[in-house]
Amino acid sequence: METYNSTSRNVVAVVEGSDPVLKNEYVVLSGHHDGRGIDDGEIVPGADDNGTAAIALMEIGQALLAEHPKRSVILVWVTGEEQGMNGSHYFINNCPVPVEKISACLDMDMLGRNNPDSLYLVGSDLLSSELDASIRRANSKSGINFGFDYRYSNLTHPQRVYFRSDHYPFIRFGIPSVWFFSGFTSDYHSYRDVAEAVDYLKFLKATRLVYATAIDIGNAKTILKLDVNPAVTSRGAHNLKETSLFQVK
Ligand SMILES: [Zn+2]
Repeated sequence: METYNSTSRNVVAVVEGSDPVLKNEYVVLSGHHDGRGIDDGEIVPGADDNGTAAIALMEIGQALLAEHPKRSVILVWVTGEEQGMNGSHYFINNCPVPVEKISACLDMDMLGRNNPDSLYLVGSDLLSSELDASIRRANSKSGINFGFDYRYSNLTHPQRVYFRSDHYPFIRFGIPSVWFFSGFTSDYHSYRDVAEAVDYLKFLKATRLVYATAIDIGNAKTILKLDVNPAVTSRGAHNLKETSLFQVK
């Protein structure tokens, strides 16, 4: 194990909301822009992990310029996910807007592999029933019709997937957050994670789903209710002590 100091950056963009009052509330869209680099002497191209989300954020940002929802949307390409979600921890710990004004975080990490008709939702049902409902509404209204798999939302899952992407630091602050995820493959973190192996139709559908969900949450009457975990009733740093968000019983 070698340790070293280095500098890296999050990249942040904002699409201002169209409503004069609600534009002071936010939907955050995130995806990590870093990759593994070289593992065991081999280049890890990182097409699915996480070229897919880095590109999805650009496309969604451009689409949002044509259809501003009422709330503002913050797009954040976070750094250092592969080193322990450093960029997303930094973002929410040094949040440029009041944390209690963030309705939800929609995180993307690997969007273009596995079953073309299904997607994993990680965490969507753990803090707000309205987040999961919003995703389901967007899914059916836009005709995308993914089947959703919630197995990784379980904190006790042996692969600890719930703890492993950039939605998690937001959940720790009591912000309803989800990781849109197409699942692991045997190419994960290897030289085989190449652009040719991405299912572009699935990638497109997943990107459109995140966009439609951002519009739905961005235009909702109120920010998402915290109605699932009785210990989490408001957003903020006080939730960092809430063990139900990180301790597996
Ligand atoms: Zn990743």
